[in-house]
Amino acid sequence: MRLPAAVRFAIAMVGEMKMIYLDHNGSTPLAPDVKEAMLPYLEGRFANPSGSYRAARQARAAIEHAREQVAALVDAHPGQVIFTSGATEANNLALQGWAQAAGLSRGLAVSAVEHASVRVVAHALTARGVAFTEIAVDKTGLIDASGLDEALVQLRARGAGGLVSVMYANNETGVIQDLPAIAEQVRNAGAWLHSDAAQAAGKIEVDFAASGVHLMSLSAHKLYGPKGIGALVVDKVMALTPLLYGGGHERGLRAGTENVAAIVGFGVAAEIARRELAARSARMRDLRDYLERRLRALPQVVLFGELAPRLPNTVCLAVPGLDGESLVMRLDQHGLALSSGANCSSGQPSHVLLAMGVAPDLARCALRVSLGEGNTVGDIDALIEALVQEIEASRSAAAAWAPL
Ligand code: PMP
Repeated sequence: MRLPAAVRFAIAMVGEMKMIYLDHNGSTPLAPDVKEAMLPYLEGRFANPSGSYRAARQARAAIEHAREQVAALVDAHPGQVIFTSGATEANNLALQGWAQAAGLSRGLAVSAVEHASVRVVAHALTARGVAFTEIAVDKTGLIDASGLDEALVQLRARGAGGLVSVMYANNETGVIQDLPAIAEQVRNAGAWLHSDAAQAAGKIEVDFAASGVHLMSLSAHKLYGPKGIGALVVDKVMALTPLLYGGGHERGLRAGTENVAAIVGFGVAAEIARRELAARSARMRDLRDYLERRLRALPQVVLFGELAPRLPNTVCLAVPGLDGESLVMRLDQHGLALSSGANCSSGQPSHVLLAMGVAPDLARCALRVSLGEGNTVGDIDALIEALVQEIEASRSAAAAWAPL
């Protein structure tokens, strides 16, 4: 019997309320103040911000205020913030926009642990003539300085103005790269540096100018803002060709009528993130440390990236012998929502862990816990309890199948 739509929706909502959400690197809930700020722009304040009448000028002012709020989060100048549909588009604009402007014969070096929205673009650009080099990471997940040196030698062979892309913090392991040191090496080699800071912004202090990067990607839905909005922060010395041509919006780098409500939401989310950064990250770190203490008490659990500086909310672990993807499905039955790695690459052993030298069989067992504002010690206890049950169930199943 098929239930009426309203009943199905009510059941889904009850299910959602009971869910323990541990996938904040995948996405975060919209903060109530963000939603409040957005609502007027989904209702009465719908004017096109390119107009000249008062309502349009008000929409334009709201965008420019949000630009200031986003810029303040990463210590950039508002004029450097170009709104995009998210970090995926920002990464595409950075890499494709550079390649088109610099000339397709230049070299591009990308770290081995990048998100798909950098890696896949880099591979696509090779088909257009760009010379591509991968930069290795060490066992801890950090960029290997000699690997970066080698990549820069190859870039220089293609002339000055090559591009290096190294993410600020990794979405799977939480490992934070030493951007200022990397920037110094890259700048000394006469190259540009892009950094995907989608996971770092709002979780740790990010300073665009001090980091030394020329391009930085951001995403609102990783910091309690709406989906479908992000930004590329662009140093004024950087020449980029737009992906989208049209009415010259966003300093000619991103044509299209602005998503005013989403931009306003991004601005408020950025302002809250900046204000609450210290308190949020201290709370996350306490919960994360508690989670790791409890995980270490379980037999066999492996933690990845723990020797490197990491985001305060992220734990990447494996229970050898328990496939990560199946474990995610079983934990879902316990009402726990988490991911086996990056949401965008489910099913494959994580390229991030493989790059860190983790064996493919162990990488397939990876599980990512990413904590957020709503989580409590009770959520962690529930996760540990469910994990213990699943580990015991798999042991009993293995024992039942053991030869007599
Ligand atoms: N980069 C990183 C590191 C990410 O974690 C994500 C989100 N999974 C993205 C880019 C893509 O961001 P968006 O969803 O805003 O396109």
